Parts: sequence; structure tokens; C-alpha cells
Amino acid sequence: AQERYASIRDLPAEAKCGTHVGLHMNAGLMADLPSLPTSGAEGVGLFRTELQFLIRNQMPRRAELSALYARVMDAAKGRRVAFRTLDIGSDKVLPYMKPNDEPNPALGWRAIRVGLDKPGVLRMQLQALIRAANGRPLTVMFPFIAQLSEFRDARAELDKALERERILGRPLPETVEVGAMLETPSLGFSPDVLYEEVDFLSVGGNDLKQFFFAADRENERVRRRYDTLNVSFLRFLQQVIDRCNAYGTPLSFCGEDAGRPVEALCLAAIGFRTLSMRPASIGPVKHLLRRCHLGEVRAVIEEAAARGDQSVRPAVTELLAREGW
Ligand code: PEP
Ligand code: MG
Repeated sequence: AQERYASIRDLPAEAKCGTHVGLHMNAGLMADLPSLPTSGAEGVGLFRTELQFLIRNQMPRRAELSALYARVMDAAKGRRVAFRTLDIGSDKVLPYMKPNDEPNPALGWRAIRVGLDKPGVLRMQLQALIRAANGRPLTVMFPFIAQLSEFRDARAELDKALERERILGRPLPETVEVGAMLETPSLGFSPDVLYEEVDFLSVGGNDLKQFFFAADRENERVRRRYDTLNVSFLRFLQQVIDRCNAYGTPLSFCGEDAGRPVEALCLAAIGFRTLSMRPASIGPVKHLLRRCHLGEVRAVIEEAAARGDQSVRPAVTELLAREGW
């Protein structure tokens, strides 16, 4: 399949109307790095750092992590890599950490909650990232931020780590970009100041959808019950997009849905300008995107919503068939 899309690999990710949609890849393992040049990805929109922790049987050391992150940045050759700090808990349990028995792990002590309550590992990781950057630009994003104070506290940890490195006389990153993942509806409805304070927001659609519909992403019985193209979900995303646009906050979408062509097209049509997906999805998404006029897709989405359709999928599918896209 990858070969099928090779012919468009170096063509711009532009819709027929000329709108550019940045297509980035999700990664986490060293084995993902060769995909960076071959997929046509503009950068790494989500680097899941916990994968490196999950494949080991003991906690990695700072120097080891730092060398690893440096290799990722080397492979990216100046392209942006958004390093997401450790996202553990819920479905991701480290074999060498005391498991905690929680009635609802997805709603429990996970991701940034662990990072802020027991900051040792987060601090080590931030230091490793700063050292890996070694004077290059650094992008960090914090997972599962549910309210503004969590972002502020996490950012304060990063600022402290930068200050420590400065005192030690080590090189600081050329630039530091700090973002939050929007994975709970609460963050979308947070005060405007959040949108001003973050350097960027990235929608973690897998978790966001799970919490929006109260449907466990791990539960086969319910995980496909609600359509991502449900008008309520799109309306929520639309207000996030509108507020990001009002404040000039860069926004991306990095859940699995970004890699499904029809979903990606609709996300672009409602205003997402950056999508991050598994590398193999970039070709199919770009292929569809290049054939479509986003304005026409958007009009069909708005009509479907106004008509009271539950999902815009039938209307969009019909448009694609009618136009031969
Ligand atoms: C998400 O929740 O959409 C996301 C990108 O993070 P993960 O799938 O790793 O939870
Ligand atoms: Mg998530």
C-alpha cells in the first residue's frame, strides 16, 4: 500500500481548494524513525515517550533516555518532534512499577496526574529532553491536561528543569514550545486564558472521544458505538477550533481518527490544519485530501447538522460519491 502512494509522497498535502493541511506522524519506537522520510510526514506530531518505558523491564536512566531522544531529533533532521511526556496508567502499566488497584483506571491516577504527584520521573524526563536538544529547538507536550492549573504546574516543572541546566552551564534549547493535550471535554471549556498560555493544543481524539461519549475505548462492545463524525462531537471540536483561531493558538489532532481518510477530511473541513497519524495513513489521507474542496465538504457538514442528522458521515460519503472524489 505504501508503494501505491509513493507517487504523491513528495507532493504537498493540499486540498483541491489550495488549503494546506500539515500531515505529521505518530511515533514512539526507534523502529518508527525510518518512516519519517518515507511517509512524507512533515514532522512527528506525537512522540509517545511511554513506549520506551514499556518495552523495558526496569526504569530507563536519564543518560540513556537523553541519547535516545537525541537520536530521534537527529533522525527528524530539523523537523518538529512533539515529545509527549510519560503517559502511563489506565491501559499502560509499567512492569516495574507497583500496580495500583483502581476501580476505573481510565478515570484514575494516570498521565500528568502521576507526573505532578510524583514528579521524580517527569523531572528526569524533562532533563533528558533538554540535554537531547543540546541547543536545538524543543517541543514538549503534556498528556491528559484536564484543567489549566495542571498545565501551569507541568510547565513550572519544565521551567525549573531549564533553570537547573542553565545554572549547570549546559546549553539550553534554541526555542521551547510547550503544549497541552486536549483529551477531556473539560479542557475545551476552560477559561480563555488557557488558550493564551499554551504554545499549542493537540486533541487526543482517542481519549477525548472516550470521555465525550462515556464509552470505553478498550471495550469492544461500546468502542465503535459512537461515530467520530457525530454532530455533537464535531460541534465540540468546532468551538475548540474557533477559540484557537481567536487566540492564534496552533491546534492539531493526533488520535487514530486523524489517519482515517474520511474522518481526516472532515477534521480539515471544520478547520484543523495539522493532523498527526500513523505513518502508513499519510498516503491515503493525502490522496483523498488532494481531490477535495474543503469548502464543499464543510457546506455538506453544516447542512447535515442543520437537518438534524446524527452523524455527518452519510452526507459526506454521498458527496464523495457524487463528485467522484
Ligand atoms: C489520544 O488519546 O488520542 C492519544 C493520541 O493518546 P493515546 O492514544 O496514546 O492515549
Ligand atoms: Mg490519550
